[in-house]
Parts: sequence; structure tokens; C-alpha cells
Amino acid sequence: MSDTWDWIIVGSGFGGSVSALRLAEKGYRVLVIEKGRRFAKEDFPKTNWDAKRWYWAPQAGLKGLFQMSFFRHVTVLHGVGVGGGSLVYANTLPTPSDGFFEAEGFAGLGDMKAELAPHYDTALRMLGAAKYPRVTRGDEVLREIAQEMGREEHFEATRVAVYFNEGKEGEEVDDPYFDGKGPRRHGCTHCGACMTGCRIGAKNTLDRNYLHLAEGLGVQIRPETEVVALRAHEGGYQLETKGSFSGERGTLKAKRVVLAGGVLGTLPLLLHMKEETDGLPDLSERLGDFVRTNNEALLGVVVPDKDARFSDGVAITSILHTDEHSHIEPVRYGEGSGFFRTMVVPYAPGSWLGARVWGAFMQFLKQPVQWSKALTVGDFARQSQILLYMRTLEETLSVRLGRSAWTAYRKALVTHLDDPSCAPKAYLPEATELAEAFAQKTGGVAMNLFPELLLATPTTAHILGGARVATNRDEGVVDAKHEVYGYPGLFVIDGSAVPANPGVNPSLTITAMAELAMSRVEPA
Ligand SMILES: Cc1cc2nc3c(=O)[nH]c(=O)nc-3n(C[C@H](O)[C@H](O)[C@H](O)COP(=O)(O)OP(=O)(O)OC[C@H]3O[C@@H](n4cnc5c(N)ncnc54)[C@H](O)[C@@H]3O)c2cc1C
Ligand code: SF4
Repeated sequence: MSDTWDWIIVGSGFGGSVSALRLAEKGYRVLVIEKGRRFAKEDFPKTNWDAKRWYWAPQAGLKGLFQMSFFRHVTVLHGVGVGGGSLVYANTLPTPSDGFFEAEGFAGLGDMKAELAPHYDTALRMLGAAKYPRVTRGDEVLREIAQEMGREEHFEATRVAVYFNEGKEGEEVDDPYFDGKGPRRHGCTHCGACMTGCRIGAKNTLDRNYLHLAEGLGVQIRPETEVVALRAHEGGYQLETKGSFSGERGTLKAKRVVLAGGVLGTLPLLLHMKEETDGLPDLSERLGDFVRTNNEALLGVVVPDKDARFSDGVAITSILHTDEHSHIEPVRYGEGSGFFRTMVVPYAPGSWLGARVWGAFMQFLKQPVQWSKALTVGDFARQSQILLYMRTLEETLSVRLGRSAWTAYRKALVTHLDDPSCAPKAYLPEATELAEAFAQKTGGVAMNLFPELLLATPTTAHILGGARVATNRDEGVVDAKHEVYGYPGLFVIDGSAVPANPGVNPSLTITAMAELAMSRVEPA
């Protein structure tokens, strides 16, 4: 058994990184497999026009950290690389409101708010959470909106995973977090480029905390390697791998496995293996059910005024809790990162395509000068503000393997709408009102991305569920320890195990749930 690992972890995002460190601390021999690259800070693109460094599409020679996946009912943004979504995320770490812990998805699992509380604290400490220390133009506008709604006390600076050393921006210092065991760090320069990768070294990505400490304890990380099959084997598991760029095939064995590939990594792997008789055919029939988008709408405002500056700050600097289950945040890319100007269209809600296209056309006719200027602004990132609106309220999709217009040439993940009344929506009236208020205050125009206009599908950066925790296999895929029903020693510890919409950015919750799951693993 010498070539058999105690644990293999598939994916190095939030769930995978927590698992790697905690299993190493418990004395296990651990290997992490990651299909993306390992990035030094100089490897990140200067702007998102540098597709080779920004976008992940290895078959086209693009070896970056960001990917968009288009489905019939949703467009998903996600991260790839050693550190997973933390490389590309907007660092924001809010705790969900009580509605999340009381959701139907957690039923029977105990008092999850109390169970998770100490693990949220650990996650915040490990991720180096700090309140955003400045006030940006976008924050000022959002605060004004909060005042007009009578909810100023529900507006606050975000808690973000960034090292701030105000007054010494960009300076290198010894590890400020882990008694010298962590890497040296640089203070944030507020350049706004967090979502194209931090070239300064201020963002607390997982390779600077959990994974760095895990490697210090002997964990091995194998980047540029994708796990393409997984089978029960001699009381443990056998994994087949493929080089992401080389195509080289390999086989690995482990006594236990953590699947942490995120929703778009873990679900296709499990669904493929469920179809194979020598794969994992006894997986729960609920595999692929209860996929959620965090009930999210991504829209934006583009401001023609050439002096407008919305790109200063970290990626997300404030949050307004618009009611007990809804939240909105101003989001930005760094100066020069204007790729999304190629995908924006006028914001025009409507239930059928003709109405939306007509609405978009009328928007243009009503303010032709404004629109012409907005579509040709000099620096799209500097002159625009993305608005991210999220809700805890229920909505679900299911995913299965199949063929669609997008995936006609091979079987791949496709989405289904089981209950149209629970469909994720591209247009939420409250989000529309907020975007219009933001546009009015800034002299801008409201926009969103073309999948919303053409297909009425929402875009989300927070896809969750599909292998949710539950008290039994008729309700979910993994138990309270995140161990897969029917497959002892196989665990799912990532966003796919989350059983409800947090209604706020979910990485802190994924981290806390991973900490809880790991606290339940016996030492070696
Ligand atoms: C632009 C953007 C901004 C965001 N901002 C925020 C934010 O501010 N706050 C927040 O909380 N969340 C944010 N998110 C969401 C956050 O990134 C995800 O919720 C989180 O990363 C999910 O964590 P995870 O553990 O499920 O897996 P991920 O972090 O998605 O990691 C999965 C990893 O597994 C790898 N992998 C997948 N399949 C395989 C395989 N078969 N073999 C090998 N490796 C594999 C992937 O390459 C990836 O690196 C943002 C996301 C995006 C895209
Ligand atoms: S604002 Fe700039 S320096 Fe600060 S964390 Fe983001 S990318 Fe790094």
C-alpha cells in the first residue's frame, strides 16, 4: 500500500484547502490534485484583455484563472488554479443571516447556527478578514440609497480577505498572520484588480494561508492535473488523472478521497461515475438536485462622465442589507480591465425575448447621447460599477448529464427546471429599482450581460448545491460528516454540499462547513 495515499483531495479551492491543512495536522499523508496552474503574483494578467493569463480554456491555449460556463438556465462564473475560486474572487466574507441556518435544507441537522459559529470564527481568522478601511465613490452612492430607503444602519463596509497596511501600501512585511509560518506580504494598494488576480500580494488567497501551511506540513500539491474518473478499489478509491496541458494519463490510489472541485468540478465527475457500473452506481438519486444560484442578479451601471472613478478600492467595499433576506454590493474590476464591455447590453427586464429586445431598443431611443457615450467610454472598468444583488429566498435547478445546443457533441452537464415557480431569475424587481437609483445618482445607464437579454438566464458567481448534506440519502448526497451515502471514505467538501442559499457571498460559509466536517475526522 506504499503508493496509496491516506487522503487524496480533488480541487484546491475553499473546501479542498481547509481539508488539506486539517488532515495534515491530524497526521495523514495527503495529496491535492488541481487541474489549474500554480500562480505567482507576477503571473496574473495586468488586465482581463490578456485572455491567455486571465481565461481558462486549455484546449485553446488559455491558461488563466477564470472561467464562464453557459447553461440553458444560468451562466456561472468560477475560478481555476491552486487556490481555486480564491484567486479570482472578490475577497468578501459576510456571515449569512439567520434565514440561511433555518432553511429547509438544514432540517434535521441540528442547530447549524450554533454548530458552525466557532468554525466561522476560525475561517475569518485563517482568511485574514478585515473591514474595508476606506470609502469609495460606489460606497457613497450606495449609502445615499440606504438613507433614502431608511436603512442607513444596514449599510456597512465589507469584511474582506485582504492585508491592509494603511500608510504603507505596497510595502513588503513579514507574515502578519501566522506567527511567521506564513509567507511575507504586501499592503493593499486599493487598485481594484482582485478579480484578475492580485499582482501586489495583498489578497489573502488560499495559497497564502491554508495551502501554504499545509505544504509546510508535507502536503503535496499536483497542479495542472485533472481527475477524470474515480472508482471504489480494494477498500479505498482509485483515481484516473489527465494532464491539463500534456494530456498525460495516470492512476492514483487513496484510502479516502475528498471531492472539492466546486459545483462544476465535483458534480460532473460524480454524475459520470454514477452512470458507470464499475464506477459509483449507488450514489444517491438526489445527486444533481437542489443546485442554487444564491438567488443572484448581476447588473451594472456605466457612467459616461470621463472623470468618473469606480475602479478604486478592493473588488467589493460595502454591503447594503436591503431587507432581512436581500443584499446588494458595489463590485469593481481594476482600471483597464474592460473585457465585459464586449458582453453588455441595456438592462431591459421582460418575460419574453421580443419585450426585452424592444425594451433595450427603447432605452437607447430615450437617451441616445447617454447610451452612445456609455458604449464607447474610454476605460470601461473605471467608468462602471457592477452591482451584485443576492437573496436567501428559495430557488433551485437540477443538473444531470445530457446533450443540449451547447454540448451536442458530447455528454456534459445540463440544467433542468423542475419547478418553474422556483426558477432562478435574471430580473428581480428590487434589483432593477436599485440599479435605476444608482444610475440616476451617477448620471449613468443600467446594463447587464447578453445571456440575460437573450435567454433571461441569470449570471452567478455563487453556484451552490447538487450534492447537499442531509439526514438521509433520499434527501441528499452526503451525511452530516460530508461522507457520501453508500461510499464510506468518500467525502464532498465544497460548495456543492451547501444545502441552502446563504444570500451573501458564500466562501466563508463553505470554509466554515469544511472546518466543521474536518473537526469530525479522527486523527491518524
Ligand atoms: C469573479 C468571482 C468573484 C467572486 N467573489 C466572491 C466573494 O467576494 N466572496 C465569496 O464568498 N465568494 C466569491 N466568489 C465565489 C467563490 O469563488 C466560490 O463560491 C468558491 O470558490 C467555491 O469554493 P469551492 O470550495 O466550492 O471550490 P472552488 O473554489 O471553486 O475550487 C474548486 C477547484 O477545484 C478544481 N477542480 C475542479 N474539478 C477538478 C478535477 N476534476 N480535477 C482537479 N481539479 C479540479 C478547480 O480548478 C478549482 O480550482 C466569487 C467567484 C467569482 C468567479
Ligand atoms: S485591491 Fe489590488 S492590491 Fe488590494 S487586494 Fe485587490 S488586487 Fe490586491
